[in-house]
Amino acid sequence: MNDQKQPSDIAREALRRLATSHLQPTPANYQACYNEIAGVPNTLPFPEGPLRQLSTQLVPRNERQQQSLDLLGSAIGRRSWQCVSEALNAFAQAGVVPPSGEQATQPPSLPAEFAGKLARLVEGVLPALGDDNSRVAEMAGGLLLLLKQPTVELTLVQELLASLAYQVCAAAEEQVEIKGALLKLLHMIIENIGELSVDDSWLKGQIDGLLAAVAPPLTLRHLDEMERRLRDVMERQGRAKSRSVEAQAEMRHMLAEFIERLATMNRSSSEFEGRIEESARQIEKVSSVDDLRPLLDDVINATHAMAEETALSREQLKTLQDKVLITESELMQLHQELDNASALARHDPLTDALNRKGLDEALAREVSCMRRKDLPLSISLLDIDNFKKLNDRLGHDAGDGALIHLADVTRSNLRPSDTLARYGGEEFVVLMPDTTLEQGIEAMTRLQRELTKAIYLSGNEKILITFSAGVAQLKPEESGTDAIRRADQAMYLAKRAGKNRVMGG
Ligand code: GH3
Ligand code: MG
Ligand code: MG
Repeated sequence: MNDQKQPSDIAREALRRLATSHLQPTPANYQACYNEIAGVPNTLPFPEGPLRQLSTQLVPRNERQQQSLDLLGSAIGRRSWQCVSEALNAFAQAGVVPPSGEQATQPPSLPAEFAGKLARLVEGVLPALGDDNSRVAEMAGGLLLLLKQPTVELTLVQELLASLAYQVCAAAEEQVEIKGALLKLLHMIIENIGELSVDDSWLKGQIDGLLAAVAPPLTLRHLDEMERRLRDVMERQGRAKSRSVEAQAEMRHMLAEFIERLATMNRSSSEFEGRIEESARQIEKVSSVDDLRPLLDDVINATHAMAEETALSREQLKTLQDKVLITESELMQLHQELDNASALARHDPLTDALNRKGLDEALAREVSCMRRKDLPLSISLLDIDNFKKLNDRLGHDAGDGALIHLADVTRSNLRPSDTLARYGGEEFVVLMPDTTLEQGIEAMTRLQRELTKAIYLSGNEKILITFSAGVAQLKPEESGTDAIRRADQAMYLAKRAGKNRVMGG
């Protein structure tokens, strides 16, 4: 059954209602009655045409009124009632004539340079708020238009800026909340991967790394690192899973074959028993040796067949067993490989700096990123001074502690965008993107100062650790490895010049 009213019925009823409720027979009233009967919301269309006509009839009497009219035009174009009302208000206020006797003073206006800077600030802030807040975009559009006028009236800007600031605050708070919620979600997903995994020992390293990577402060570099790790986890997990499924299928197949063989053995041995029993019965009945001969032959044949069958079965079972062992060891090897590929794969376990493999990847990434953006990349190689002596005097564990200390101090003094890698025993490489040679030397010299302040304690003994460093800025056609080599040569010169210093390569 269709109880939906026909348009002609609604139209008739709307006319009747217009008459009975003594409403003026205007198109708007008719439309309202029609919508009410049809059960649709009565939202009036934006009257762009009439508003434009109205705006052409407003004659500006001063500069401020002209600006308000421009704003009105843009507000009508954007179909924003709020901005239309603000522009009309501004127009009206700008038309108020000062009381007689008072000198008509020019309203204070914004210096052009300040207006330009403000416009750039607004343009710069907008993208950070995401593009899903049309209210902010609309208000910012109005303000930008105003700021680009030749003279910009201060009070008008103040008003618009106040309402925009309010909206921006709300939008920024929303963005912070969205970011927080996304991070929480990410945490949950990562934890869940850990719980779902069949191979906890391998994943532990990766999951810990991922959780550390999503800890605030969140930087693009962190996110980039996290994406790489997550991809790695997923790829390896996928591979391990399909290999495990395959191995399980193989095992199942082998088990089926094994059972089949056991059944055959059982069948042949009961057949054998039957033949022997039958022969025994016949033997009881025979009276001559001649009659016995064929029976003995029978027994011998049956025994032979049984022996052959058993040998065959044993062989087949042995092959099966071998296969099971091979599959098992393959699985073990797979697990081993996965273990090796954990967080240790890219990080040095002692200092948690990147290892050589991690450095290679980070270097390739930074070199191509800095080239693409046409920014300088500086690379430093630092080597602890007299480390062998420290080891000899205080022991290897104290030496290890010194390496950890240096890595910690370096990390806390680097910018978040810099990368620390352990290059060799007591040698570290620092990648400094968007850094010139001079800035790189300066950063390493600052690190030397910080290291002398952050004394390393071995037991109760205070130990001063110093290092010598070489810095090289990547040349246009040079490979990352060659730049490290130049940094190494500069480091060597720093050693020759008396240690505890930084040299440019
Ligand atoms: P220089 O000032 O010229 O750099 O002298 P050095 O003693 O620092 O350098 P050298 O190359 O002669 O010795 C480096 C020492 O670092 C030798 C090695 O035993 C030690 N070493 C390398 N890796 C480790 C490590 O992981 N832990 C500890 N404790 N020592 C390490
Ligand atoms: Mg060395
Ligand atoms: Mg050294």
